[in-house]
Amino acid sequence: MPYEIDETHDQNLKSWVESANDPETDFPIQNLPFVRAVFTDDEEQETFIASGVVIGSKLLVLDLIAQEGFLDGFVDDEIMSTMLIDEYFSQLSRDDRAKFRSRLVSLLDKDNAELRDHELAEHTLFDVADVELLPAFDCRDYTDFYASVYHATNVGSMFRPDNPLLPNYKWIPVGYHGRASSVVPSGTTVRRPVGQLSPAEEGGAPGFGPCKLLDYELELGVVVGRGNELGQPIPIAEAEDHILGVCLLNDWSARDMQKWEYVPLGPFLAKNFATTVSPYIVTMEALAPFRCPAMTRDDDDPKPLAHLHDENDQSHGGIDITLEVFLASKQMRDQDLEPIRLSKGSFKDMYWTIAQMLTHHSSNGCNMQPGDLLGSGTISGPTREARGCLLELTWDGDPFAETPKLVPGTQRTPIELPTGEERKFLADGDEVIIRGYCERDGFRRIGLGECRGIIEPALI
Ligand code: MN
Repeated sequence: MPYEIDETHDQNLKSWVESANDPETDFPIQNLPFVRAVFTDDEEQETFIASGVVIGSKLLVLDLIAQEGFLDGFVDDEIMSTMLIDEYFSQLSRDDRAKFRSRLVSLLDKDNAELRDHELAEHTLFDVADVELLPAFDCRDYTDFYASVYHATNVGSMFRPDNPLLPNYKWIPVGYHGRASSVVPSGTTVRRPVGQLSPAEEGGAPGFGPCKLLDYELELGVVVGRGNELGQPIPIAEAEDHILGVCLLNDWSARDMQKWEYVPLGPFLAKNFATTVSPYIVTMEALAPFRCPAMTRDDDDPKPLAHLHDENDQSHGGIDITLEVFLASKQMRDQDLEPIRLSKGSFKDMYWTIAQMLTHHSSNGCNMQPGDLLGSGTISGPTREARGCLLELTWDGDPFAETPKLVPGTQRTPIELPTGEERKFLADGDEVIIRGYCERDGFRRIGLGECRGIIEPALI
């Protein structure tokens, strides 16, 4: 069942943390995403890490308010101080999660003096700008899906113009196992990978060297809160109970390596050199007002098989999250030019829902665990503006065409930057910035923050 709208989503709620009431903030009192923060004590040369929620420009450290008894009855403070958010939440029922959110919202409400007027309040709140933010979960395993039919069709068309979608696409949420060790937090630089590059001519030998066709993929990361026992599939009606929340994800991709290596076992070194995630986990509870129906399938599309079909998931399984990608080259940053927007799309255009992806993943008995990360796959939509990677964006010869027309061999159309530079793929020094937010009449806008990364030159 999708999560429900309650008093914590009231658009009139305001916080005593003033910055949370700024209409521009991604983090009003209605959001409260989880993060981990690294504190550095310069004198002692020590660092320590704490879990918290972001409110406006501040971080509220959960461990500290738990120690003072503010979460009594909601959180075991021993557990809060030693466990990661995803592990802690794996132990909470859905009702308890809702109570926990409701308690946090109440503590931060402008009319509630409990914490606001407490002498310790200022010692539990920190400027986000003064700490290093890490994702609130320790990425345990990482799987990347391919859930946008627009992305799959565009990419398929480049290789098979007459038959872009393979026969399994509308039956099975296609995915591959990625690598957790190279999932890095926003702000980490990304080294251009070196590898075997697709031969220039069919039947020729591959090259070996720095990737020449480096790309980003705009994706949503889904974080698992509660796992399942090995051998025990997760029924689709229960799938969302297992999800903690979502973050932004950039699945950096080396296209020339990918094209050569992907047959027959799928992506490998073209993807696992880096995957960047934003630090904020926006909870499923916070997203409740922005739920929408799953994407409507064409009349001649197959219906999902019974284990991937649920009425509630069909009516509320989508999420309307607007997602944007920006690019700033080194020259642009040196000249203080604003990043330019490359694309804008919505997660509501995905062919498969989060519940379908998770249920499919566990349908063979595969055990999901707290901290597992599922990438949605590149989020592309029906318009040119909504293409979620450069492989699609610079694809056809007519930059104004809504419908891709390119066949293999046609030149790509470069994107022009305000400095006069051109890009078909990413250059060294380029910074890619992903932003996400949800808006709906009658509700407070909430945001997912940013996911950033700058490309460093290859080592050879
Ligand atoms: Mn991907």
